[in-house]
Amino acid sequence: MLMSQFFLPVLKENPSEAQIVSHRLMLRAGMIRQTAAGIYSWLPLGLRVLKRIEQIVREEQDASGAQEVLMPTIQPADLWRESGRYDDYGKEMLRFQDRHERDMLYGPTNEEVITDIFRHAVKSYRDLPKNLYHIQWKFRDEVRPRFGVMRGREFLMKDNYSFDLDYAAARHSYNKMFVAYLRTFERIGLKTIPMEADTGPIGGDMSHEFIMLAETGESQVHCHADYLEFDAMAEDIDYDQDLSPVIAHWTSHYAATDEKHDQARFEAEVPEARRISTRGIEVGHIFYFGTNYSAPLGATVTGPDGEEVTVEMGSYGIGVSRLVGAIIEASHDADGIIWPESVAPFKVGLINLKVGDAACDQAARDLYDRLRGAGIEVLLDDTEERAGSKFATMDLIGLPWQLVLGPRGVKSGTVELKHRRSGERQELSPDGAIDRLVGG
Ligand code: ATP
Ligand code: MG
Repeated sequence: MLMSQFFLPVLKENPSEAQIVSHRLMLRAGMIRQTAAGIYSWLPLGLRVLKRIEQIVREEQDASGAQEVLMPTIQPADLWRESGRYDDYGKEMLRFQDRHERDMLYGPTNEEVITDIFRHAVKSYRDLPKNLYHIQWKFRDEVRPRFGVMRGREFLMKDNYSFDLDYAAARHSYNKMFVAYLRTFERIGLKTIPMEADTGPIGGDMSHEFIMLAETGESQVHCHADYLEFDAMAEDIDYDQDLSPVIAHWTSHYAATDEKHDQARFEAEVPEARRISTRGIEVGHIFYFGTNYSAPLGATVTGPDGEEVTVEMGSYGIGVSRLVGAIIEASHDADGIIWPESVAPFKVGLINLKVGDAACDQAARDLYDRLRGAGIEVLLDDTEERAGSKFATMDLIGLPWQLVLGPRGVKSGTVELKHRRSGERQELSPDGAIDRLVGG
């Protein structure tokens, strides 16, 4: 991509409406613009990141055996009347009527729709288990939308729903999602800690929130510091095997949000030096709810002995658009964003310091073409901005690598490679730089 053609409306000044760093940087880096309170448009740079996160989420869902579907954003109120939730859901639900005066709503979640699809399609225990996911926009009319995409009214969520014959099978489905979530967040470059969450009237231990520790988070959380050293990618996972040892490892220490926090237990179980009490951002939530929806909606299958069995369900959500903000909260410095490579909008920013100089233009174009030929995404700054401003923009948008090319280097056959995160710089030949970027 050529910067001169790229739609990248960066802001030099800090926007006054942004209270936290991720919101500020997303606006300044031209990633998003607010269209209405809590409702955002995604501009090219932001959309690239959103899509990359979405793709990692998708790959890990697929690896776990879940299958992708796409349900609509608009739902009929009648389904929610059947489940009994229509009146309870309250003002967070955006309700309206179509031209035939039928009550409709913009989906805040999809339990009803998926259960409706399932009950008409699946009749036998032989077709179980099933786990279906989609990545779709949701609307919740939050009282206080704030912090940009972190608490929007319209936001992108990956949600999925598991269907099983009995409790043991439902637990295995739950465990699969537990592991898939750990791996997803690790690949995205986020340390998250699964924390016990409220199970409501269902009881039991099958509800966890995946929390990223951050001062700007909205929940108060408490956990053992050892979790920060756990590595979700340390071993290969076979999703058909019993996953309970992995779950046992990841729940072996204390970790709870305020809702479930027990200070006495915390102090008894965690040595003082290892206690972390801070704030956290909920990026995912998994939840087993038995027959809460399948019973009222009549989602049953014929069991092995010919009896009707009401299926056991769970639902699982990842805040895909919230993750963009969460990553920035975890990874930035005074100059701007620092993207983890796995989600970066481009891997390399190539700066031509002297646009208009034939030798520099030629060398920049050469490097650009060769990197792209090697499958590397590059943003070439071919604008006539001052050098200082080019450096500042590149730092602000946070691409993992910068390549700087000027008249002096062109003469001596070198380019400068800068690593955004460490700030390390190296003088390399163009070939050396390409090898370095293709290799690592
Ligand atoms: P919260 O407690 O933050 O309001 P929730 O518990 O209501 O979230 P869930 O129903 O568990 O949310 O939704 C699954 C995921 O969707 C959450 O873990 C979060 O990452 C994301 N999410 C929920 N609400 C929002 C929102 N208003 N804006 C952006 N992401 C959201
Ligand atoms: Mg939640």
